[in-house]
Amino acid sequence: MAKARSFGAKLAHEASSEGKTICPKCNSEVRKIKLIRSKKSKANTWSPKYEFVRVCKCNENDIMTGKI
Ligand SMILES: [Zn+2]
Repeated sequence: MAKARSFGAKLAHEASSEGKTICPKCNSEVRKIKLIRSKKSKANTWSPKYEFVRVCKCNENDIMTGKI
C-alpha cells in the first residue's frame, strides 16, 4: 500500500508542476516553443500560421534546422 500511495503522490506532483514535461526517450525537459509558419491560403495570400511544438533533444536539431 505504501508503494501505491507514493505513486499517487508522484503523479500529483507532476501534475502540479505546470509546463514541465520530461521526455521518456531522451530524459530531457520538453519545452513548448511557438513556431511561425507561412501557409498559403485559398485566396492566394500568405498568412502566418502560429503553432506550438514540443521540443526535446529528440527533435530539437530537426526543428532548429527547419526540417520539421
Ligand atoms: Zn526526447
